[in-house]
Amino acid sequence: MTRSSPGRVLAASFVAAALAAAVDTVLTLGSNPDPASASLRLGLAVSPLLVETAWACPAGLIAGWLSGGGRAAPATVVSLWALGILLDAWRAGQSVLALAIIALVVALGGLALGRLAIDATAAMARLPAARRHLLWTAAGLALFASASSVTRSGLHIFGGGTGPCASGAAPAGPNILLVSVDALRADTARRMRSYQRLAAAGIEYTEHFTSSPWTLPSIASLMTGLPPDLHGAGLSLSAHALLAKTPVPVGLPSLARTLGTNGYRTHAIVTNPFLTSRYGVDEGFCSFENVTMGGELVRGLAHTTPMRLARILAPRALPSDRASTVRAHAERWLATAGDRPFFLWLHFLDPHAPYGDRDGDSTSLTLDLMAFQQEPGLMVPFHGVGLLRAGEYRPGPDERRRIAGLYQQDVDFADQEIGRLLDFLAGRDLARRTAVVFTADHGEEFWEHGGVEHGRTLYDEVLHIPLLVVPAGEPRGAASRGEPSNVVDVAPTILALAGIEEPGWRGVDLLTGLAGSERAFNLGNLLFGEEWTGVRTAHLKYMRSEHGEERLFDLIADPGEQVNQVGSMHEALAAVRALVRPMPAVRADLALAPAAATGAKQ
Ligand SMILES: [Zn+2]
Repeated sequence: MTRSSPGRVLAASFVAAALAAAVDTVLTLGSNPDPASASLRLGLAVSPLLVETAWACPAGLIAGWLSGGGRAAPATVVSLWALGILLDAWRAGQSVLALAIIALVVALGGLALGRLAIDATAAMARLPAARRHLLWTAAGLALFASASSVTRSGLHIFGGGTGPCASGAAPAGPNILLVSVDALRADTARRMRSYQRLAAAGIEYTEHFTSSPWTLPSIASLMTGLPPDLHGAGLSLSAHALLAKTPVPVGLPSLARTLGTNGYRTHAIVTNPFLTSRYGVDEGFCSFENVTMGGELVRGLAHTTPMRLARILAPRALPSDRASTVRAHAERWLATAGDRPFFLWLHFLDPHAPYGDRDGDSTSLTLDLMAFQQEPGLMVPFHGVGLLRAGEYRPGPDERRRIAGLYQQDVDFADQEIGRLLDFLAGRDLARRTAVVFTADHGEEFWEHGGVEHGRTLYDEVLHIPLLVVPAGEPRGAASRGEPSNVVDVAPTILALAGIEEPGWRGVDLLTGLAGSERAFNLGNLLFGEEWTGVRTAHLKYMRSEHGEERLFDLIADPGEQVNQVGSMHEALAAVRALVRPMPAVRADLALAPAAATGAKQ
């Protein structure tokens, strides 16, 4: 047996890895059908090549060195790759028959890839040296360009922060901890132990509503104090890409910037692909972490050999966006926060669909939200999410209860971790010096109006959210306020907690200025389907679609919003109609093209 040169062994390993990566790329793109942008699509396409070559080249060299033959390298690379696929299928709970079929396909495919790698390497060896060098230089440059493009876009979405950083004199106000939980209904929140613990020492706002039924526009309202028709965040820019949404525009009022300008140290630890610098959510924060992106990275690399093996060997070591990660990061940050008062925003994602599927994995919001669907045979692809939300998926009562139970499990997990965080604050004597605001970005529907999840309607089940305000200092006992309050009130309330007087905020300071039941709150900026705008008062809910369909509900007589009163409450209709700006006018103000709604109603 002639000993192969290291160069040839390396070449064989690289070619084998590239061939395996080509298969992985097809699997990766197939399971991520809605990349946010061309750069993300490129990242998904090239990352398997980067990852597979990173381990395969050294592994192939070792195998080649040990065996001395030229064939051991590609054989080792392809065998490990095939083993990863098979073990992953076993981990995923495939049946014995399915495993046998997968093993057969992978074995035949692996043999073909190995043969191809050996032949391609031999063919390359026969090329003139100049051409061979040219080929390797081109491959090296392509690999380097891929690595730098993926790394650059990857790093960009992990962090952020544009605001002032603890400059000037330290403020006299207390620390402020803002906790928001994704997709947490007001009624569900009230059953949480952490909620009850905070409520025992704070003020509970029982009629608190957000203005948009999904994360980006609702959080934009929270941070800017503006309703959705004025901040314009979260409007669709493409009928095909779920993540193509308008960001929070630059130059709006900013809660974080105001606190930072007044000497607060500001930081955010959040989880949700929409809460990133790409969407302007980091505006005004000194520093900003999105731990979801670690989970998304794991997901992006899911169809690669190291990730397949890591899922079996060390699943807990993989980055995660679960509440435990947010809590751990928060505790780490708090331990080094120093004496200067801070504003820390934590956003927990756990209750968000897919429900009950979080063991070390990403929540995969960029993908189908069907993980709670466990019946074999019913696979709804990405475009099915709109159908799911719109009620096209019609489970029976038992299945609905099971799905709601999985949601509750995720709420319970977030509850437990928030409780541990409160223990941490108490243990460090931070509780007394820290005001806590607890809320959600939106609620969640469970077939009240035919669908499940959130993002496609403006009914109360997706707008009614918890709000608790616990001032710093000695506990004052529980209090409850039943007047309607809105997400735009949170920023001025937090500034009041901090003792910062800054006029011009649209909402009111809920500690002193709750204005009774005469207020009207604009609604809009949906995630899916037709665009709807609307308005909510204490007694009425009015909604109008982009095509002119109207709905009016008497919230006193019909709190479940089941009977459309457009044909009967004429006076009220005229009054609320005047409060809603037509969607074309909103888009014109924001210099956007006409509606480009995504989802099932295309
Ligand atoms: Zn959300």
